[in-house]
Amino acid sequence: MASSPLHIAVIGAGFAGLTAARALKAAGHSVTILEARDRVGGRIHTKAAADGTPVDVGGQWIGPGQDRVLALAEELGVETFPSYETGDNLCLFNGERMRFSGILPPHAPEAVAETEATFQALDALAATVDAERPWTSPNAQELDNQTFEAWIQRTAQGPEARFWMRFLANSVLAADARELSLLHVLFYVKSGGGLASLISMSGGAQERRFTRGAQHLVERLAEDLRPNLRFNCPVTALHQDERGVVVEHAGGSLPADRVVVTLPPTLAGRLRYSPALPGARDHLTQRMPMGACIKIQCVYARPFWRDAGLSGMAITDAGPISLVYDNSPASGTPGVLVAFIEGEEAKLWTNRSAADRRAAVLGALVDLFGPDAAAVREFIEQSWLEEEFSRGGYGGFLVPGAWTTLGPALRQPCGRIHWAGTETASQWAGYMDGAIRSGERVAAEILAIAAAQ
Ligand SMILES: Cc1cc2nc3c(=O)[nH]c(=O)nc-3n(C[C@H](O)[C@H](O)[C@H](O)COP(=O)(O)OP(=O)(O)OC[C@H]3O[C@@H](n4cnc5c(N)ncnc54)[C@H](O)[C@@H]3O)c2cc1C
Repeated sequence: MASSPLHIAVIGAGFAGLTAARALKAAGHSVTILEARDRVGGRIHTKAAADGTPVDVGGQWIGPGQDRVLALAEELGVETFPSYETGDNLCLFNGERMRFSGILPPHAPEAVAETEATFQALDALAATVDAERPWTSPNAQELDNQTFEAWIQRTAQGPEARFWMRFLANSVLAADARELSLLHVLFYVKSGGGLASLISMSGGAQERRFTRGAQHLVERLAEDLRPNLRFNCPVTALHQDERGVVVEHAGGSLPADRVVVTLPPTLAGRLRYSPALPGARDHLTQRMPMGACIKIQCVYARPFWRDAGLSGMAITDAGPISLVYDNSPASGTPGVLVAFIEGEEAKLWTNRSAADRRAAVLGALVDLFGPDAAAVREFIEQSWLEEEFSRGGYGGFLVPGAWTTLGPALRQPCGRIHWAGTETASQWAGYMDGAIRSGERVAAEILAIAAAQ
């Protein structure tokens, strides 16, 4: 039991908020979690197909090196299974459909060589970055002065190498190369253990899935916190003085000693603060937009592509989707293909009608997998841009100049207000694992203050 228990308000019941609340409660403090939605999980959301198959419309994959999420699943007895990756991958590039195994399709040898060299150059540069404090990395200013696109154009000349780098921005950050700070991309690669770790299935971040969907893990994590949770409670304002904090929310107000804000920074910037936030913190929230992603699951009677020796993994430059994976359940039935519309395409296609999107996505899948792809039993789509309490995904990213001018404001508490959420992690930032690490870090921050009082 803590010697003088504090009352802590945690805003947001995603992985970060639940992890922080659990640790603070275990240390004997009193915790209230205020959640805007009517469920836990935030950017994790498992829906059910008509036959009950769990379908993750938000985050879903975990892999080696993501030690905190793996440990949590183990501790809470939540089952996982390996992602399906048997067979050939597909790539549609410049109108040509290619079957391939490994990372790259059979482009011309010089194009493959340049693409590999560009990947290696990016990885080598990322290795120089300090993921804990990116603004202190060697040449941080120079790296932060430019967009990822500027680096791509300087480093790679051929269309293939440029395509793969831009695809990397889309598929790993759900953002476009021209809006990302190069330093942010390098930070992200370093934080996820290098490029191979980020982009691989086996041995990488897409290695495993949760048998009952990712929400199963969040629900298990929330189990002991049910009495502490208040749903449908969007927080609107935080007032603090020397006595404490008052949290205003849709249902009233809540006094607390300390507050943990786990919202992505751009959403945290939409709350009202009194006294006003320090300028640097507010400007940081103005420079960390969310990635843009529409995640679509196509449910088929069976995974027909497996009969043709295909893994279900496909990459296309023809739009609107850029990336496809086999997302069938562990049993293999029904067959599910998950397709992603990301970055600029997501910003365009979120405005189109559902019927237009369906026709375009199925058309793209037919171009890749053949006519069977049209015989979809269910089409389940989730535009994260339209989600009021996420406003995008997978996560927030920093635009050029922000890390080196405002980086320290990402985690620096503002009086009684502490910041968590996957965007504040230095390892696996943007991932579930990073969210959990951020919850642990912020709980330790508050416990240290409580111990010193
Ligand atoms: C489509 C998609 C695919 C992804 N794929 C993967 C993947 O395969 N693997 C992986 O590891 N990660 C993936 N991610 C990222 C992962 O989901 C996130 O990193 C993680 O869930 C973030 O957790 P968090 O607690 O930091 O934030 P959140 O989950 O965003 O939690 C913040 C919480 O705050 C609540 N909230 C917002 N505003 C307010 C307010 N005003 N008042 C009160 N509450 C509020 C929200 O409802 C939410 O519950 C993906 C994300 C998306 C969107």
